Amino acid sequence: MICEILSVGTELLMGQIANTDAQFLARRLSMLGITMHRQTTVGDNPGRVKEALREALSRADLVITTGGLGPTEDDLTKEMVAETFGLPMEVHGESLERIRAFFTSIGREMAANNAKQAMIPRGARVMPNRKGTAPGCIIEAGGKIVAILPGPPFELIDMYEQQLEPYLLSLSDSVIASRFLHIVGVGESEVETRLLDLFHSDSPTLALYCNPGEVTARLTVMCRRDEDPAPLLDPVDREIRRRMGSAVYAEGIDVSLPKEIVRRLAERGETLAVAESLTGGMLASQIVDVPGASRVFLEGCVSYATEVKRRALGVPQAVLDADGPVSEACARAMAEGALRISGASWALATTGLAGPGGGTPETPVGTVFVALAGSNMETRVKRFQLRSDRPRVRAMSCLYALNLLRLRLDEMET
Ligand code: ATP
Repeated sequence: MICEILSVGTELLMGQIANTDAQFLARRLSMLGITMHRQTTVGDNPGRVKEALREALSRADLVITTGGLGPTEDDLTKEMVAETFGLPMEVHGESLERIRAFFTSIGREMAANNAKQAMIPRGARVMPNRKGTAPGCIIEAGGKIVAILPGPPFELIDMYEQQLEPYLLSLSDSVIASRFLHIVGVGESEVETRLLDLFHSDSPTLALYCNPGEVTARLTVMCRRDEDPAPLLDPVDREIRRRMGSAVYAEGIDVSLPKEIVRRLAERGETLAVAESLTGGMLASQIVDVPGASRVFLEGCVSYATEVKRRALGVPQAVLDADGPVSEACARAMAEGALRISGASWALATTGLAGPGGGTPETPVGTVFVALAGSNMETRVKRFQLRSDRPRVRAMSCLYALNLLRLRLDEMET
């Protein structure tokens, strides 16, 4: 099946927002084995929406539109699809009731123009919107399929996962099965080099997705709906783990290192505190982002100024004078201070130079120390020399700090 995405929204054309909806859909459709040939973006202009839709339909079997389902005059995606297929718009009673109930639930009266959101092209399969007001819909006509999705990402993602993806899967006898292996602490090119020959296989296929400090390897096979994909995926999975060793930290689709740390500490009944310099609260925030973090996270100290490292964490003045705030000794003292003050099972610390200014020949920009202190161990400190911009250096520092703890937990559990 060949697909095109038609993104509707003037704010996309003007560069005011990034097209994360198209990115999400493209990724998920590729996992289903649906081929993406083009993605088009048009503003909220009836003529151009219709023209772009007609063009997309002349090439693709499936066109997915995003955005333009709002209550205002310029939200016109459904109307333009209906006109293109010569379908009249009709009120969808259930959607109208849902929209009315939504406004009642937030203590407001439904505005007259919200009723427009319950208008659906005749014969369309409605996809209720569980996160907002505008329903989406699927139209099958003339051997083509058009799926209409709302613009706000959290509405679109929910509708896709709950409704559009199951519909698309139901169109075929075969299914795509994917497995995701998460790798931390090894750069993309190094991962690629170590796995090079595995990229030549047609089944499973191997693809890499990269974020700062982290690589996700996706293994994909096409199999019959009733077939267990595990025997097809297992051999390559084992081979990747053999080659990457302890750098593979987890498997799964909704996985991250902070989530893994929270899950594992909760299982062990242990707690964590952090002391942060260059990450400035980012590490604490990543942990607190995980639902259930309160079971494991005790406290964080943003000790950004040198003086605060001494005052709040008890880093000895002698260390600050002799080694400086960006040093192995300081990272160690920060982690040990956080452990002592919090009474947590573990404490992580970060200190470094995120740049762009402030580097010296001994401590260039990108120098980062992460430290782990725990009650029954010698404190561990690791130095990294990161070559990246400020946001990435800070993000990677968080990841590498968490990885220090993850590796320690691995050691204790094997
Ligand atoms: P609403 O009912 O909120 O008006 P809608 O379906 O009409 O939703 P739009 O009006 O096009 O959607 O966009 C609403 C908001 O959703 C935008 O301001 C933007 O924040 C977000 N959005 C729209 N399209 C995209 C996209 N392609 N990628 C990421 N975000 C998007």
